Amino acid sequence: MKRALVCGAGGFIGMHLVKKLRSLGYFVRGVDIKRHEWSPDGADEFKLLDLRVEANCREALTIGGGTFDEVYQLAADMGGMGFIHSAETEIMHNSALINLYMTDQAARLGVPRYFFSSSVCVYRDMRPGEPEMTEAEAIPAHPDNEYGWEKLYSERLAEAYERRYGMQVRIARFQNCYGPEGTWTGGREKAPAALCRKIAEAGDGGVIDVWGDGTAVRSYTYVSDMVDGIYLLTQSDLHGAVNIGCPQYVTVDELAQAAARVAGKRIRIRHVDGPVGVQSRNFSNARIASLGWQAKIDLDAGLALTYPWIAEQVRAARGAAAS
Ligand code: NAD
Repeated sequence: MKRALVCGAGGFIGMHLVKKLRSLGYFVRGVDIKRHEWSPDGADEFKLLDLRVEANCREALTIGGGTFDEVYQLAADMGGMGFIHSAETEIMHNSALINLYMTDQAARLGVPRYFFSSSVCVYRDMRPGEPEMTEAEAIPAHPDNEYGWEKLYSERLAEAYERRYGMQVRIARFQNCYGPEGTWTGGREKAPAALCRKIAEAGDGGVIDVWGDGTAVRSYTYVSDMVDGIYLLTQSDLHGAVNIGCPQYVTVDELAQAAARVAGKRIRIRHVDGPVGVQSRNFSNARIASLGWQAKIDLDAGLALTYPWIAEQVRAARGAAAS
């Protein structure tokens, strides 16, 4: 039986990955600074550890006098645009420490295969209609936020350890990921979850606030497609960073309208000031496609799976507040 360690298993994508690996027959240890809110017992074994501490990284990576066959490093201090713009020092400090110690300890303990979760936030701002950007075009670098700079640094860190220690490193740059059992409130939620929540909270014909002018262009990848891509990439021989994303680009307003359709509500959008991030995104998925990956769940289908879960959380929170 192969053994896998998932760092960030108390989080959204990490727990979905834990479940996929277990369904494939892996023994999975999850590690996080907090337990997963909705699937606390998803892994075979779970350790509550702060991975900013070197000794904790060593403990996480050690099993039965040896180490894991595969390590998936998804732990990060992260959130949506609101968080990214207000917590620059926390992101630069905490996520860099996690990656410094995890990468170093994994290489020294002899981990054969190490996956690192990067982000398309490493790329510069794009104009709508610009041709697709390939992975190599992240350099010369000009990310619009510190989250992107930390990811770029940690990518290079992992690649340096691969050269020195021979640890097989695989790096994915995720586009925005969404689905059930992700953060939906509290300030760290990302746009799809935030808009689903606002629509769930609004009545039919109600008004929801959207940050910016609603024209920023993004693509959104459903979480099962993302974890399929992570697994495929980790098993592959593909070196260097690899974009993973559903090539369906929509504006923020279109995303809100799609969620409202799924909710069966008429919604009016009010544009308000707020952090938006880059204007546009358009990336090549040719590298991940070369492994046979393609997104199976389009935006409407993904929102149809996500909105009911968020609406249920909103109902439960209202019920708890009323009692
Ligand atoms: P998430 O916030 O749900 O999960 C990250 C987890 O890391 C959290 O559970 C958090 O508690 C944990 N963590 C933070 N600090 C820690 C510490 N000191 N020690 C141990 N654990 C710690 O985020 P997610 O959406 O599941 O993202 C997973 C990874 O994918 C992250 O590295 C993120 O940067 C990257 N990513 C996500 C998206 C997206 O759209 N969700 C897009 C691009 C990249």
